[in-house]
Formats: sequence, structure tokens, C-alpha cells
Amino acid sequence: MDDVRYDFDTVSRLEAEAIGRPGQRTFRLIAGNDRGETAVLWIEKEVLQALGEAIDRLLAQLGPRRYRRLDVAPPPPRPAAPLVDEPVVEFKLGNLGLGYDPEARRCLLIAHDIEGDPEGPATLRCLIKQSQFRRLSEQIAGIVATGRPRCPMCGQPLPDGPHFCPPSNGHLSRADRADEA
Ligand SMILES: [Zn+2]
Repeated sequence: MDDVRYDFDTVSRLEAEAIGRPGQRTFRLIAGNDRGETAVLWIEKEVLQALGEAIDRLLAQLGPRRYRRLDVAPPPPRPAAPLVDEPVVEFKLGNLGLGYDPEARRCLLIAHDIEGDPEGPATLRCLIKQSQFRRLSEQIAGIVATGRPRCPMCGQPLPDGPHFCPPSNGHLSRADRADEA
């Protein structure tokens, strides 16, 4: 393993959080371990969404459990627990890598500070249980959906494509404006 500035080992906390009002939200990941260390990674919304999808792909590869994304509106995001301690490291996310460590039997998250050397040592390395990654992915899906405009008929977040609206007997409506952040 390459040098890494902060090696958190297995995390005991892994959460995504949106801060601020819809349209002006900023996003962060919070990781913590049993040594009482906390890391805060500021992340763009598009990267957060891509991270959720990458986690789903990784979990699907790892099987044998199936991680089926149900085609229903995701639940409202579970709010992140408050930050109690000052983080030992806080940075804006640059390169991000996911993987699997067969020896530790844990998923891996390796993050680089956007201001650091992308070829240099990573800023943070975490070992993550599959169940923790699955919960994070669900939380991200909820956060991303919250920023979407909602259907005035049924209140569901509108997808990019046509929306099948049960209360209006399948009336199709579209988001007529860009996603809010
Ligand atoms: Zn609807």
C-alpha cells in the first residue's frame, strides 16, 4: 500500500450530508473510526451521485447478495449525526478510488485532496464494510433526490425522463427546469 497521510482502518461512521437550502446546498462525506478520528471530505453533487453509483457497481460485483435498486422514490435522506469532534483532516475531494481489499475483507475508499499532488500519496484511506457502503449509497440516493423538483400531482422527485404519475392516471410530466443542487 502506498503511503497515505491518514489511514483510518475500518470506519465506524460513514455518512453523506447536504448542508444548506435546496438550490444552495453543499455536500460532504464524514468518516470516523473507533480511535475517535473524524475526516470531512467536501464533495461536488455530481461526484457524490457518481460515488453512489460506483458503490452500487462495486457491491454488485462483490455479490453474492443482490443489491437491487427498487424503482420507487427513495426515502428522505437520513440526517447525518452532528459532528462532535474537530475533524483531524478536512479537505475538498479530488481523486477518489474505490476497491476491495481481499485480505482485510473490506471495501476500500482512497481519497486525494484536490489541492494535493494527484500522483502523490493519498490523503485518506478507509476500510469499509459492505453494509456500510450499502447504507451510504442509500443515503446518497436520498440526498440527490431531495434536490430534484417534485411532481405537483404526487410529490415524487421528477426523473430526467418522463414521469409516470399514479394520481393523474399515468399523466406524463417532465421536470421543466434544471435540477436544483
Ligand atoms: Zn406525479
